[in-house]
Amino acid sequence: MDPLTKFREFWPRERVFDFLVPEIPPDLDINHGVILYLEDISVSFDGFKAINNLNLYVDAGELRCIIGPNGAGKTTMMDIITGKTQPDTGMAWFGQNINLLKCTEPEIARAGIGRKFQKPTVFEAHNVFDNLELAMAGDKGIMPTLFSKLSGEKRDRIKSTLELVGLKDEAKLVAGSLSHGQKQWLEIGMLLMQNPMLLLVDEPVAGMTRQEMERTAELLTSLAGQRSIIVVEHDMDFVRSIARKVTVLHQGSILAEGSMDEVQNNDKVKQVYLGV
Ligand code: ADP
Ligand code: MG
Repeated sequence: MDPLTKFREFWPRERVFDFLVPEIPPDLDINHGVILYLEDISVSFDGFKAINNLNLYVDAGELRCIIGPNGAGKTTMMDIITGKTQPDTGMAWFGQNINLLKCTEPEIARAGIGRKFQKPTVFEAHNVFDNLELAMAGDKGIMPTLFSKLSGEKRDRIKSTLELVGLKDEAKLVAGSLSHGQKQWLEIGMLLMQNPMLLLVDEPVAGMTRQEMERTAELLTSLAGQRSIIVVEHDMDFVRSIARKVTVLHQGSILAEGSMDEVQNNDKVKQVYLGV
């Protein structure tokens, strides 16, 4: 079954957030069920191999957690996926047909890869609703041009996103007055307005309260299935609460991959990362 049909089955029409199911960009081919292929990627900075023959495959709709000690190459890996860093060798494909190494950063964003940096970058002086409106993809985005003309529908889309990220009651507050956790959710909402098929999230729960962490876990879990999400995170409790498949990165390569239990019981992982 093709992934879109799979998504539609999982998220039937009646679901509240149905129209938040991303339109698959017409030129993105994920018929084989894989949304991201990184093969034999290496990159050196001044002779130091930050990424070393990295192979990573992420399925359409998957929620993947990446863990690994500082300097393991996690951020560099995201830089390569988003076109910020060009690798020395290897291949990087978005679906079957989009060669990421041939795309610029804006082209990659337009093709459907969204990235959330660690520090929230919301428009502090604007209210929450306006932040989402500002973030909405224009007619060059994934949403059809027609859609952006329907202001009522546009408003509904913003409202649904507000509900999804838990900021319905804060819509009229200026973003600068939100708590740290709420700003993080707003930024996730802003990314969703651009309809990414693959969302990269770097350390989403750093600085969050326990309660905010739980809500973030719910949010990311609810987004997976419709889209693919790669989460880099240090907080083990958080990773455990959302993880299906975990990839452990070490010295620029994959050290282990599997369920949280599998990787936590892996001897190599214990040695280099968990320190047990
Ligand atoms: P992580 O996110 O897993 O902590 P990074 O990807 O940030 O790791 O870094 C991997 C290694 O590459 C580190 O040793 C870092 O110092 C180095 N590195 C990353 N980016 C650059 C750069 N632009 N120039 C030089 N060294 C870099
Ligand atoms: Mg990092």
